[in-house]
Amino acid sequence: MNGLDPDFRRRLDAFEESLRRRGVQVRMVCGYRSVEEQERLYAVGRTMAGSVVTKARGGFSWHNYGLAADYAFVVDGKLSWEGPWRTFGLVARTCGLEWGGDWKRFPDRPHVQWRGGRTIAQMQRLAKKQAE
Ligand SMILES: [Zn+2]
Repeated sequence: MNGLDPDFRRRLDAFEESLRRRGVQVRMVCGYRSVEEQERLYAVGRTMAGSVVTKARGGFSWHNYGLAADYAFVVDGKLSWEGPWRTFGLVARTCGLEWGGDWKRFPDRPHVQWRGGRTIAQMQRLAKKQAE
């Protein structure tokens, strides 16, 4: 998918391959998301109808920097949210990725991200510089 950090993309390739070797097929359903898209998503369940789907405002999600991806399982050729999430999380950690299922406050099992030692504040400053 477009807009993903190349180093993160390589980690995802290894992650997907490792899952495949364990007989688990996944498909990325969301990768890069613009700040505007993130703001629209943040409104869902708050100022718009529906249940809350994210805790992050625009510019506060690793998706906004191409460093997060969401996955679904592929079962009989169809996307599914039911699957071996424990294996998914285990393999993610093995590949050096952070798994959203490990979060205490707002667990997000389809989500993996890679900060590479950076903080959101650093990413925001960098994006601001690039926009100038
Ligand atoms: Zn996500």
